[in-house]
Amino acid sequence: MTSSSNQTPKPILVRKYGGSSLASVDRIKSIANDIHTKHSSGFRLVIVVSAMGQTTNELAALANEVSPTPSRRELDMLLSVGERITMSLLSMALDDLGCPSISFTGSQCGVITDSSHTEAEIIEVKGDRVREALNKDQVVVVAGFQGVSLEKEITPLGRGGSDLTAVAIAAALGADRCEILKDVDGVFTADPNQVSTANLHDTLSYEELEQIAGTGCGVVHSRAVNHARKHSVQLFVGSSFHNSSGTIISPANFKSETTNCPENTPYKPLAITLTDGISLLECTIQNQGNSSELLDKFSSCIQCNVPLQEWVDFDSNHISWNLLADASVLETINDKISDLLIKEGVHHTHSSELSCLSLAGRPPLNWVDTSRKIITIIEDNDIADYRIICSDTNLRILLNPAEAVTMLPIIHDNFF
Ligand code: ASP
Ligand code: MG
Repeated sequence: MTSSSNQTPKPILVRKYGGSSLASVDRIKSIANDIHTKHSSGFRLVIVVSAMGQTTNELAALANEVSPTPSRRELDMLLSVGERITMSLLSMALDDLGCPSISFTGSQCGVITDSSHTEAEIIEVKGDRVREALNKDQVVVVAGFQGVSLEKEITPLGRGGSDLTAVAIAAALGADRCEILKDVDGVFTADPNQVSTANLHDTLSYEELEQIAGTGCGVVHSRAVNHARKHSVQLFVGSSFHNSSGTIISPANFKSETTNCPENTPYKPLAITLTDGISLLECTIQNQGNSSELLDKFSSCIQCNVPLQEWVDFDSNHISWNLLADASVLETINDKISDLLIKEGVHHTHSSELSCLSLAGRPPLNWVDTSRKIITIIEDNDIADYRIICSDTNLRILLNPAEAVTMLPIIHDNFF
């Protein structure tokens, strides 16, 4: 048993291991060793796992070989298998080390979600079986990325959703800390595999990590950070390969009430992220006084819960409506709205295969100086074809893929 009534209970630690940390049998065995050591040093442990390596992508490809349009329900049944493979293998490896453990699926842990079959929202984490197992001093291994709806269907938490599983379980158990362990040493100013001069952030506030995660850099899922902030879960992002000081995210790291950079201080972004496979859809139509009606029609067509940047420019003559998103997302939207665009006589251009460099951090009062600086850097490198898009939260630079790779370290080193 973990404690008698007059002993302080052992701290609860929730750890999440990503797919690349669990990509082989050797990695699973090595992580089992680390978990065993941690458990022996006096922790109650919940281990949330992702699917091994590229398993989720491979399962999705397998589904597409069987059917070009698999039903969403059956696809979710299939994809949820990836994490179940890892959880059971890890639990077996722990048993072999003499470390008591048990694995559970999301539904066995009582991760209750709405009935969305793309990116389900967690309604509640019951966690009864997790608590019972912890009380028996077992290491609990949980399949990430999946829950169960009130209709008892298996639901996915969206790509990269195991981070959310870990944070939600940590919140439900009142865990002392939630660790997201990865193949990098923590949260950097850029992906250290792409930019050798990238710096590690020792500490970040939830808001700052949300800004970074919002660029799609994948270091931690943005919904997980959001959940951690709402429930004050102490987060740590570090390496699964070796001991690293990592990045600590906690309410204590909150730095300032202001949301913008103070006046007269240069813009200091927190991170720059390169995203490939971006598409831009630009639609322009003459403003004939029916603009809001038209925009309503457009937006009801694209109502879907996907990461998308949308902006509208009006003047007395024209309305332009722009959408920036992952190519596959924009493909789907394009399919939905192309009839409407043709019917309404909307002039539209769809540019695909773009790459995007996104700067995240507390935005400046205006983007003029920053944009000017970026334009100079880009043009000094003889790049003529680029586009800068500023929003109230971040700045994005659209480039062709090869030029984005060239510009990433150059822009990074000019700002960090
Ligand atoms: N295996 C899922 C994915 O690849 C979930 C995760 O890794 O968090 O998206
Ligand atoms: Mg993953």
